[in-house]
Amino acid sequence: MTNEAWGQVREELIKRVGRNNYVTWIEPLKLSHLKNGVARFEVPTIFFGDWVQRNYADQIRNQLSTAGEPVDRLEFTVSTGAVRAQPARAAAKSAAPRRAASDEELPGAPLDARFTFDSFVVGKPNELAHAAARRVAEGGPVTFNPLFLYGGVGLGKTHLMHAIAHELQTRRPELRVLYLSAEQFMYRFVQALRERQIMDFKELFRSVDVLMVDDVQFIAGKDSTQEEFFHTFNALVDQNKQIVISADRAPGEIKDLEDRIKSRLQCGLVVDLHPTDYELRLGILQQKVDYYRSQYRGLVLADGVLEFLAHRITSNVRILEGALTRLFAFASLVGREITLDLAQDCLADILRSSDRKLSIEEIQRKVAEHYNIRLSDMIGPKRLRNIARPRQVAMYLAKQLTPRSLPEIGRRFGGRDHTTIMHGVRKIEELMATDSQLSDDLQLLRRLLQG
Ligand code: ADP
Ligand code: MG
Repeated sequence: MTNEAWGQVREELIKRVGRNNYVTWIEPLKLSHLKNGVARFEVPTIFFGDWVQRNYADQIRNQLSTAGEPVDRLEFTVSTGAVRAQPARAAAKSAAPRRAASDEELPGAPLDARFTFDSFVVGKPNELAHAAARRVAEGGPVTFNPLFLYGGVGLGKTHLMHAIAHELQTRRPELRVLYLSAEQFMYRFVQALRERQIMDFKELFRSVDVLMVDDVQFIAGKDSTQEEFFHTFNALVDQNKQIVISADRAPGEIKDLEDRIKSRLQCGLVVDLHPTDYELRLGILQQKVDYYRSQYRGLVLADGVLEFLAHRITSNVRILEGALTRLFAFASLVGREITLDLAQDCLADILRSSDRKLSIEEIQRKVAEHYNIRLSDMIGPKRLRNIARPRQVAMYLAKQLTPRSLPEIGRRFGGRDHTTIMHGVRKIEELMATDSQLSDDLQLLRRLLQG
């Protein structure tokens, strides 16, 4: 097959996989050999080859056979000294003449091909965020604007945003979807100011159909960037264009963000990603293991290892994934079965650092959740029994499960006096002896909190 023919196949692939995936995964492939049903490509890394094999092999094979080159097998060799095509986007430009000219100027961040809806495990803590993201990804009429996703690190905000972008590329390829971090937004803005191209900047950001800005807390305190963001935001909302924003906390809780921006951000749908629970962590591990099983054939995974990891590594999904990756790599290196012992050895540092340092806030949150009261009532002044009792439960658990002193605990409960805390703790101790419902609650909460 000539390079020209491969060029045509690639063009076809842009349509199938979307432009971002194309630029990331297809464009760097160098066809080095095509004979006897085998197509061999040079790739920059082993991982790269694995990834393409896993995600794009079928499409590549289909396109090759449409082009008259039936292929049974794709092979990947790592090209030594291969440098990723530098201006990848410029290269894609010439390969994609059919796209609108202005499309090439979208200064978005590259999308991670792994962050799709398929690979996103849905559980209770993230089901609402997932459903909202799905809705946006349908590309239908805008029903809420913006979609504001927030939550702690590693809970899947970026993953969901990329998934939206991937999905839109397939369903509505004509839409101009721009994903970038707030930091990149600022960088672009400052650069435009410096180069006196602010009109171009404005035009560009106002011409997209879907704008996604990740980690928007970053622009807090950066006044001119905030200002520009605000105007961009309003212009797009006025045109009924979809906006998706993420942040590490709720709009109202981002310090140094102008009030008018906060209230604008609150106008749409504000959804939080809750910390993962055990089931979700286990689900994520199981999904990953399916992948690793196909990569490291013959490795034996003993029962209980995944459960152990899901139990012990509770901080964030990125660390959980890292632990699993390391475990498989290590086991395959030393050629041993993956057992609990091996996991404990190989992951000692991760396990140690995720030994639970429980915070009073976590306790308050869990207890509030359990009794179905507001977190704010934990620290608020209400004296109603159905609020005061859970509050005392939280005080009791804070005393039991953290090294904090009574005055310190008092401060976290809305500045209460240490004698109030002591009273609360005693009250629960007393009741526990006679109230079996309460002692069941405590047992459950303890288990939830201590993981
Ligand atoms: P955030 O942007 O909220 O800090 P990311 O989206 O970067 O978090 O997620 C961190 C890592 O965890 C990514 O590799 C992501 O794929 C993975 N991850 C997070 N949540 C899930 C989930 N529900 N299912 C599968 N993978 C997840
Ligand atoms: Mg992120």
